Amino acid sequence: MDCLFCKIVSGDVPADVVAETERTVAFRDIAPQAPTHVLVVPREHHADAASCIAADPGLMVEVMAAAVVVARSERLDGGYRLLANTGSDAGQTVHHLHVHVLGGRALGALG
Ligand code: AMP
Repeated sequence: MDCLFCKIVSGDVPADVVAETERTVAFRDIAPQAPTHVLVVPREHHADAASCIAADPGLMVEVMAAAVVVARSERLDGGYRLLANTGSDAGQTVHHLHVHVLGGRALGALG
């Protein structure tokens, strides 16, 4: 399977990794939309949040927990946004589940 984030997880594509757990990897987004913009992915390939929840709901919990740990370590004390684009209407471009951790300034409204 030709998946960019699988290649980042395996180390075949370089990334600025900020945190790792047994089942997740967090790395900085290549085109940050906020002063802090980190992506948290499961090591195992799941196309999106819905697929991951269906196959292994505990893994989705681990991804969200890892995202909260990243927000804490990035000192996003003023608040932050956790976001998982899911499907084409949401603009998902990489079809390997990833949770965006955005913060470091006041974020605009969604929508
Ligand atoms: P989404 O639009 O929700 O699918 O988000 C995909 C994200 O992946 C975008 O914010 C991209 O900037 C980011 N991205 C694409 N390629 C890379 C890469 N090689 N390393 C880090 N982030 C990437």
